[in-house]
Amino acid sequence: MDWPDGRGDPGPALAGGSSKKLQGIVERVQADRFLVDSSWVVPASGALFTGKARQVGRIKTGYWAEVDGKWREGGIFRADRIKTDEDYPGHTFQGQLKSQGLQEADKIGKGKQAYTHPEVVAYVSNIGMSVVPEWAKSQFKFQFGVIRDPTLNAFALPDGSIFVHTGLLARVENDSQLAAILGHEATHVTQRHGARGYKKQLTTFLPAMIGAEIVGTAVGDDKNSFVKAATALGLNLTLSAAVNGYGRSQEDQADRVGMRYMVEAGYDPTPAPRVWDIFNETYGDQSKVENFFYGNHSTNAARKKNQQEEIRRHYSDPAALKITRPVNEEGYQKAMLPLTRDNSMLDFEAKRYPLAKAGFERVLRHLPEDPASLTYLGRIARLSSDQPGRFPEAEERFRKAIQSDPRYPDAHRELGRLLASQKKRSEAKAQLKQYLDLAPVDAPDRRDVRAELAKL
Ligand SMILES: [Zn+2]
Repeated sequence: MDWPDGRGDPGPALAGGSSKKLQGIVERVQADRFLVDSSWVVPASGALFTGKARQVGRIKTGYWAEVDGKWREGGIFRADRIKTDEDYPGHTFQGQLKSQGLQEADKIGKGKQAYTHPEVVAYVSNIGMSVVPEWAKSQFKFQFGVIRDPTLNAFALPDGSIFVHTGLLARVENDSQLAAILGHEATHVTQRHGARGYKKQLTTFLPAMIGAEIVGTAVGDDKNSFVKAATALGLNLTLSAAVNGYGRSQEDQADRVGMRYMVEAGYDPTPAPRVWDIFNETYGDQSKVENFFYGNHSTNAARKKNQQEEIRRHYSDPAALKITRPVNEEGYQKAMLPLTRDNSMLDFEAKRYPLAKAGFERVLRHLPEDPASLTYLGRIARLSSDQPGRFPEAEERFRKAIQSDPRYPDAHRELGRLLASQKKRSEAKAQLKQYLDLAPVDAPDRRDVRAELAKL
């Protein structure tokens, strides 16, 4: 995007514009303006400077700034008061949080929940690195990983390690939406949200969380499910407080600044607000805390509205946007096919059948004969049939799977079971025997299938 390079007074106040305070890390400085919290700030004539820098020319990238003022046309923020500091709140914790973050990232990366499909991880990592601003690459060691978990979540550790759940990647629709999510997470790192909130967490969240862990039973309720998730990952609780304790204002800032990162990387921001619809379609606009990203912060509807507002304020001029990266729905979904299939199996195991169904259907849109997806869709059809004994859709799916790959064992097993339930004994026997011929020797349900055969 081309940044306006006008000089002097940025023009009249927007109608109805009220005074605001912006605060955050200074990300860029030009002759008469600097970038804070996704807005270019220009001092009003006679603006009061306090703190480290007494004029814009003295402000440096990485400074902490707090400004009071109003937005003008073109999304320029005209400041009456500008306070700057070399250090940001909580900066004394940053070193400790960074090294803890690195240790935890290492544990997660080596843990059994890591999803390591190389092409999928490379795809996520490429988009992630593309949205990280240049200035931040020398200050943090950004790295991107995927976690095998069907819930919709993403989180960032203070060292620059960012993780996305398979559940989120399987439902995101295109590169732009993933860029928006990773931009959001990168902002938690660049704005040092962990350190800024750390002191507060030490006194409020942490004792409650440690208490919850000791009490044990309290961990299961919604309020503490982020503790459960962090514990499941083996996250150090001190750090999980830093990771999860972001309040609403920091989440909203991550949405704003993350959008600027994606736009500067050449992505079209238009598809970004739809991410919130995806959350709603999956969970509903409720306060349920299933994860950190979607967590107990501003609601989906409000966050969607905020993002639409950001587009209006800063990115509404199509001529000023330099979109160099296409939305790329087709390419994204194709790259995520193995992950979408694997994640749908996790949804199936968790009995989240409508979500599993939607995932397998997405795979079939790109690979119409995928035997595993056909077989799972058959199982879901059978489980959700309200006519006992009649499963025409399930049978059709299993037969299509067998037709597509006669050597895929699970389709034979499922068809055999379905036929057995309809007392079609000889056909059922033939299918179950086929399964035993084709399945790996250590397949966990071999014993069950042998027992089922013996009863026929
Ligand atoms: Zn967040």
